[in-house]
Amino acid sequence: MHSIMRWLILCLVSSPLLAASPDGVVSASHPAAAAAGARILEEGGNAVDAAAAMQFALNVVEPQSSGIGGGAFMLVHLARTGETFVVDSRERAPAAASADMFVSNGEAMAFPFASTSGLAVGVPGTVRGVDTALRRWGTKTLADTLAPAIELAEHGFRVNRFLAADIAADDGRTQLHPETAAIFRPGGVPLAEGDWLVQRDLAKTLRLIATKGQDAFYHGPLARAIVTAQQHTRSELGEAGKGRMTLDDLADYQAAVREPLIGHYRGWTIKGMPPPSSGGLTVLQMLGMLERFPLGDAAHGFGFGSPKTLHVMIEAMRLAFADRAVWIGDDDSVRVPTRGLLDAGYIDSRAARIRTDSRMATPRAGDPAARHHTAGQPELPRIREESPHTTHFSVVDRWGNVASVTSTIEYTWGSGITVPGYGFLLNNELTDFNLMPATTAGDRGANDVSPRKRPRSSMAPMLLFRDGKPVAAYGSPGGATIINSVLNVTLNLIDHKMPLQQAIDAPRLSVTNAAGKVACEGEETFMQPRFGIDVQDALRKQGHVGLGEAGTDGCQETMGSVQAVVIDLATGAHHGAADRRREGAVIRVTPSLQPRPGP
Ligand code: GLU
Repeated sequence: MHSIMRWLILCLVSSPLLAASPDGVVSASHPAAAAAGARILEEGGNAVDAAAAMQFALNVVEPQSSGIGGGAFMLVHLARTGETFVVDSRERAPAAASADMFVSNGEAMAFPFASTSGLAVGVPGTVRGVDTALRRWGTKTLADTLAPAIELAEHGFRVNRFLAADIAADDGRTQLHPETAAIFRPGGVPLAEGDWLVQRDLAKTLRLIATKGQDAFYHGPLARAIVTAQQHTRSELGEAGKGRMTLDDLADYQAAVREPLIGHYRGWTIKGMPPPSSGGLTVLQMLGMLERFPLGDAAHGFGFGSPKTLHVMIEAMRLAFADRAVWIGDDDSVRVPTRGLLDAGYIDSRAARIRTDSRMATPRAGDPAARHHTAGQPELPRIREESPHTTHFSVVDRWGNVASVTSTIEYTWGSGITVPGYGFLLNNELTDFNLMPATTAGDRGANDVSPRKRPRSSMAPMLLFRDGKPVAAYGSPGGATIINSVLNVTLNLIDHKMPLQQAIDAPRLSVTNAAGKVACEGEETFMQPRFGIDVQDALRKQGHVGLGEAGTDGCQETMGSVQAVVIDLATGAHHGAADRRREGAVIRVTPSLQPRPGP
């Protein structure tokens, strides 16, 4: 039996959401993607090789969330040197982009129209990002890591309930363009759970990249097909919705290798994503503010899910998201005051506004340069919607190298545009920019569109360290709620001392703007302990909003999908855990081949 099938069966039969091993462990939101990573580890590959294979496999089995038509952030920790790097393959605006390109008749274009037009398509970065990581630290070729994905696309796989649900509730995105409909709604009938999906065009595309290398994506017929698709796809916006990407934009695209952001929390070190993501900065700001409260101390009212704990979390989220809205963007294009935002004195001044007995008025962004909190502009109203998609996967190999990757095509189904003849979806990442330039409202416009700029992201792949050694890798999808899913899991691990699976299963709470509308989870039975109605009433009484009427259960959301691996420093064992909010799968690998040296 083929090895990927063997792994798939092992995974489905034993459903190992939690596994322990001194060997390699992979964790992904789909069993076949985990199987692809496991196969590469089994064949002697390292964490970077396995991450590459999972990325490509996810394009096949979870195509609505990520793929070669999108972008990603990969955090890599190298065991031998102790170094950590970020590979930033975020999509970029084309050279012809302009600050007002999403403005029509003096108003921001409606998100559903803007995000399904060619205009929303950023120059895809995934292929160059994976290639960059493999060249620097991998031991396998691009072709090796594409092999499992090619087999999955060519031979097919069974549609799971999550893919079926996303086709059924697609906001029209799989129906707008005939190439997309032909894959996911053959003969006009939406694929259902259990259907078999073969993607021959995608297999051909992946094989082309495997044979000719990453340049085959950025030059030649495939590049021309991308440019044509985003220029000529019909959209509700007519001419105004025409994409501006050219062949030069594709040829010029380079992934960036960056230093991670580094912060500390109660003796743990956290390495996260720097700009263009707000993920690392905003999580580190919130942790910095929360460090002054005894979270986890139930005797003082700060146990998991208590009103006091949730209240201070909400307040920290409101403060950090006020800063995020004003200060964070792509700092290759605009200055982001990263040091100021993480300055201990500045964070203290922000945290001093949090009172345990009352809710603060809507906070404004602070002034990190002046280290006080009275300056800054008011937050602008949100003009886009959240989507629960994107994907996170994590891997540790037997040498202790770790990769933590969050990857996306932005909204569920991205732009909905499938490149004709090539079978993959294009992102709508450019609608992560301010659709209406914020400078028009007197804001500094850190996230306004400009040529070659990357849109601000919320993606927050994380690595947690103790005594200089990596102990956990995790991250989540979920738009701006990503930041809070990652915060919740971090607090669960460090303050509430939960085992990894419980830290992932526990219900999450999220606030993504200064006004403070609370979203919280509680639908699924595995999310325990719940945020009870009494707890919600206590929050309502303090003035927190978004939870509905007193006496009702306002925690009805589902957010994120966290895939994680941990390294037990005491035993050296590697474990993994995955999220039941999707079909999360963990696979442990005892390699049968002679190990090659790590990177
Ligand atoms: N495009 C979003 C970002 O980069 C991620 C989308 C999502 O998770 O739904 O922040």
